[in-house]
Amino acid sequence: MKSCQIGSLVAAITFWSLASVGFAQTILPDPVAGVEGEMGTQAGLDAWVEGFRPRALAAGVSASTFDAAMRGVAFNPKVVERDRNQNEFSKTIWDYLDTAVSEDRVALGLQAIERNRALLERIEAEYGVEKEVVAAVWGLESAYGTYRGDLPVLGSLATLAYEGRRGAFFEAELIAALKIVQGGHVERFAGSWAGASGHTQFMPSSWEAFAADFDGDGKKNLWGDDPGDALASTANYLRHWGWTKGQPWGVEVTLPEGFDYDQTTERVVKPVSDWQAMGVRTFDGADLPDHGSGSILLPGGYRGAAFLIWPNFQVIEKYNTADAYVVAIGSLSDQLKGGPPIQHGWPRELRALTLEERRELQEGLGRAGFDPGGVDGRMGPKTVAAVKAFQKARGKVADGYPSLEVLGLLR
Ligand code: CA
Repeated sequence: MKSCQIGSLVAAITFWSLASVGFAQTILPDPVAGVEGEMGTQAGLDAWVEGFRPRALAAGVSASTFDAAMRGVAFNPKVVERDRNQNEFSKTIWDYLDTAVSEDRVALGLQAIERNRALLERIEAEYGVEKEVVAAVWGLESAYGTYRGDLPVLGSLATLAYEGRRGAFFEAELIAALKIVQGGHVERFAGSWAGASGHTQFMPSSWEAFAADFDGDGKKNLWGDDPGDALASTANYLRHWGWTKGQPWGVEVTLPEGFDYDQTTERVVKPVSDWQAMGVRTFDGADLPDHGSGSILLPGGYRGAAFLIWPNFQVIEKYNTADAYVVAIGSLSDQLKGGPPIQHGWPRELRALTLEERRELQEGLGRAGFDPGGVDGRMGPKTVAAVKAFQKARGKVADGYPSLEVLGLLR
């Protein structure tokens, strides 16, 4: 079953997530320089598969599995296009949250929890990850199982391994995928263009490391209609990276007048009592809840919502490092628990910078003497720090947000 509306929604979100930095469980390595060139061909892929065969066999894939699974594997030019264009598009965090944490997704999440309450409670008891958090990952990755992706995983991975920009990475994923097939864990092996698949969009290497056989049928099946194995695997993944049950991912806060925005980064970690002493309060003006040391995050600049975040934030980052993704999981899980949506508004008149503009921003920062850590269009910590330093030097609010205003000043 597939809901078209939700399906396209999730496709758009996944696209955005990829546009920013990484995707479920895996941060894509940078492409190998110089391997752009022409699009491959089916004949080229067939030849590559021949050359790949001994390497796969040496890695433990049986000849019979390899030959049955790789026979007729299709070159998919759309996969290559997606890989090459993934940095071209991006969204502001507020545009992303509008769809990622829409009223529909909250309502469907409440229904999904109701339908799977016993399962989710058993998973919570065994792995120590709240059912609403597991459900939120499920909701963002596949709209609660309604959109799991329909591209043949082996074809996507073989295409990307052969095409070469991240050949070694995708070849390793393809070997892991072949082992999933070899073990008889999956019947119809379909997923996203980059080879993430199943209810919570696991890469094959994450399946190898973290998949669970929760229903005890001998298969770690993340793809079937029963979501049990996939949801347990997700909880197992989060537990592995240090999930602390009972600790919020973060809480929305207000910052006092004159707050030093140099303090707003994941790199500055302070006890809650320090933030409290600096005048930080919850959005409703109450004292801060003490869940240990945390950081202040302003994912949409100083005119947007502010959050006090705790280490569970970094655990969700293991799924996808984009702040917007983590905030979406956090906010969705809060609302599935009956909490309020994000209350502060966003500077909605600002649009996201294009890739070209992001590169121009980095070039401009470099020229102005503020090292952005390279010109790659990614707004990583070094670029944010450079934006802050530049804003400060120009007497602007130094929130590090790479806005059109900053770009205008650099021009
Ligand atoms: Ca199973």
